Amino acid sequence: MSILVLGGAGYIGSHTALALVKAGRDVVVADNLETGFRAAVPDAARFYEGDIRDRAFVDRLLEQENIDGVIHFAANSQVGESMVKPLKYYDNNLCGTKTLLESMVAHGVDKIVFSSTAATYGEPERVPILETDRTCPTNCYGETKLAMEHMMKWVSAAHGLHFVALRYFNACGAEPDASIGEAHNPETHLIPLILQVPQGKRSHISVFGKDYPTPDGTCIRDYIHVCDLAQAHILALDYLMQGGQNDVFNLGNGVGFSVLEVLEEARRVTGHPIPAKIEDRRAGDPAQLIASSDKAKTVLGWKPEYDSLQTIIETAWAWHQSHPTGYEQERG
Ligand code: UDP
Repeated sequence: MSILVLGGAGYIGSHTALALVKAGRDVVVADNLETGFRAAVPDAARFYEGDIRDRAFVDRLLEQENIDGVIHFAANSQVGESMVKPLKYYDNNLCGTKTLLESMVAHGVDKIVFSSTAATYGEPERVPILETDRTCPTNCYGETKLAMEHMMKWVSAAHGLHFVALRYFNACGAEPDASIGEAHNPETHLIPLILQVPQGKRSHISVFGKDYPTPDGTCIRDYIHVCDLAQAHILALDYLMQGGQNDVFNLGNGVGFSVLEVLEEARRVTGHPIPAKIEDRRAGDPAQLIASSDKAKTVLGWKPEYDSLQTIIETAWAWHQSHPTGYEQERG
């Protein structure tokens, strides 16, 4: 029996595929390689190139492989882009998930763990955020992820699907041996953008807004290491295999860092001054997002290992130093 990782050539998907391989699981990866990289997929995984919006492709996959459970990362995930291209997000994130679920129902594959996000909450009522808190997304990306959660709920009620939604806070860091890491084109995330300055790829980092209601005026986020996220997916799938109920879990460290604090830590780790310029706010950004992950710890037995900002930035820095052009050289 195999685990199907959809979007397994992407950032969090590739780290999860590798963690599954290391745990001795039989892994199948599918990815359309629109934003993912073939080189990020572990050699031990069987790879299929295709799109989850293509029903015939998903049907073929579920017919050829003996799939026990699905881990679904195949989605677009950039807050800023979702505000200017909302229909792209509805198409890939919602229409893609609809096609996937149709095929899963038709083939009797009934377990799925999928990426949701802290962006489902919008501007939080309080921090740390609990899974039961109000969900009111302030950007289209979060809206489509919340709609995916709702879709799972109704499909579960009608067809007996079992699901876990994992609401990640800010994924970052890289595999500690630097074999795989974060590579987006264009890059939009804070830590890799900061690290482009000591790499000589940009002169400074732009800080998006210094007038938020936070102690230093910059946005506060809960940064969680990608390998800790990967472990949570394995635990969630095992939980479903053991008969666990449908559920939603936050995944974060429960500690918030401002943009300026992340910058300061990156200066310490890299030994580079990393100049910064204050710019306007970015559309759709809540001031503060910090998780309570007590539920994931209690119910799934999740225990983040790489929980210091220093370790997170060190692993990211090791990856970017050893792969200055990401996977580009390895494409093909
Ligand atoms: N950010 C910033 N400058 C950048 C990129 C991001 O100030 O060049 C801020 C952004 O406004 C947010 C935080 O850094 O408050 C984290 O942004 P990122 O895009 O990494 O993740 P998100 O919170 O959107 O998932």
